[in-house]
Amino acid sequence: MSFPSNLPIDGQRLWDSLAEMAKIGATAKGGSCRLALSDEDKAGRDLFVSWCEAAGCTVTIDRIGNIFARRKGHDDSLAPVVMGSHLDTQPTGGRFDGVFGVLAALEVVRSLNDRGVDTLHPVEVAVWTNEEGSRFSPPMMGSGVVTGVFTLDEILDKVAQDGARLGDELVRTGYAGDAPVDHPMHAYLEAHIEQGPVLEVEGKEIGVVTGAQGQRWYEVTVTGVEAHAGPTPMRLRRDALVAAAAMVQAVQRVGLETAGDPCATVGILDVHPHSRNVIPGRVFFTVDLRHPNADTLADMDRRFRAAVAAIAEQNGVSAEIADFWHFPPTPFAKPLVDRVREAAGGFGFSHRDIVSGAGHDAVYVAGKVPTAMIFIPCEDGISHNEVENISPADGARGAAVLFETLVATAGKP
Ligand SMILES: [Zn+2]
Repeated sequence: MSFPSNLPIDGQRLWDSLAEMAKIGATAKGGSCRLALSDEDKAGRDLFVSWCEAAGCTVTIDRIGNIFARRKGHDDSLAPVVMGSHLDTQPTGGRFDGVFGVLAALEVVRSLNDRGVDTLHPVEVAVWTNEEGSRFSPPMMGSGVVTGVFTLDEILDKVAQDGARLGDELVRTGYAGDAPVDHPMHAYLEAHIEQGPVLEVEGKEIGVVTGAQGQRWYEVTVTGVEAHAGPTPMRLRRDALVAAAAMVQAVQRVGLETAGDPCATVGILDVHPHSRNVIPGRVFFTVDLRHPNADTLADMDRRFRAAVAAIAEQNGVSAEIADFWHFPPTPFAKPLVDRVREAAGGFGFSHRDIVSGAGHDAVYVAGKVPTAMIFIPCEDGISHNEVENISPADGARGAAVLFETLVATAGKP
């Protein structure tokens, strides 16, 4: 296995830790299954805590089960610079989504120890509870509670598909901590696999994440008139599916005709009554619009609504648009983002600025403290999949950039 030379971290040690963690909940096709607060998640957390204690860290658990492993600062009264991500996975998840960010952060702490580096601020590694939102919904619970997006009580009362209550599962797994959920942070850094194909396609080694896309989710119901597919002449039909089909294409056009990095997706389409000899009277579909710029996202929203209204009128049907969810664009802290870019450049790594298309704990944390993210390429851009893969060298590069950014942010005594 070959790693870039002269890095401040140990790429082999990081790779070995990733392999060790992946054994917990290992799946047949080479992935991992550690659903939030399951026995496997507990085993992964326990392993992480044992590694942190071996690295001399003090471990604190807060009331929503977030883990903070702390390495003392020169002035330990200052708020910590926190690095982290999540250890829970999708049911057929990979070995790197979330895990890479946690173990790269641990590798930074181990390397600070090896090099005897004294930082002004304390340094912490965070594991956020239930990032994936698979067993318990919604996603990003731990970071959402800490940043006030959710209340602690509403999240403790969430019930999983298997009937378990989240608060009870925290107790059962030994992660119902007593630390308050308003954890102080000086800054937050998260390394993560890209989960998309851009870095690999462009041959870039590091993604300097400038922020997260804003998202608007809708539910659209198109209502026409159900009628017999035989006796009803074409000119007299009010076919909800024909109108919905034009609307799906209009959503795609909203994406294609927008500058920057737009996304426009229809992911669900239900046709009623779903019978081969009945003209569809009602169609339900979902729309997901994304853009990193708030004004552009608002413009996409306007064009989408106008197109749906016009198509409904042309087809003699009605269309109702319900707002389902809205998440504003989240820019990351420019000084921190600049530091990530400088660190990547300093090592001579190829890099590009990139916007996160997916949700991450960092997106919630960014609402509260200065935040930045570092992306590394993942094979074929695939994640949330057992075949998810990275190269050991890319992992080492990501951890090295995290190390440099952390040291610059935590400061010298
Ligand atoms: Zn993740």
